[in-house]
Amino acid sequence: MESCIFCKIIARQIPAEIIYEDETVLAFLDIHPTKPGHTLIIPKAHHKMMIDTPENIVADVFVKAKRLMTPLKQSLSADYVALSVVGVDVPHFHVHLIPRGTLDGLADFWLRKKYPEGEMQKVGKKIREKIGKK
Ligand SMILES: [Zn+2]
Repeated sequence: MESCIFCKIIARQIPAEIIYEDETVLAFLDIHPTKPGHTLIIPKAHHKMMIDTPENIVADVFVKAKRLMTPLKQSLSADYVALSVVGVDVPHFHVHLIPRGTLDGLADFWLRKKYPEGEMQKVGKKIREKIGKK
């Protein structure tokens, strides 16, 4: 897609610190990292959001993300590598890999709170009903 910044990185029209590439995916360092080594892994095919992306491409991206975790962890002396799909920034499906330390001071990604009494069961029921319908 012509106006997509990630497609431009794939086409080498925009420079990026690429750490891995194969026929189907590209992985490069985020220019605004939460931690050094914060990596984005993207499919070379342009799909806006994960929900729009064919399952075989999603599976491929996650397998490659998993394979990159060990080199990221080892090269940056991280305790573990966090993975997230945020989906509100660049409209080209991508997975974030963030080398983390157990005591690195980074906040959780989300604010968390308890369900009001009985609400969790209602939400669970709503979701199960949709899963049941194809
Ligand atoms: Zn794109």
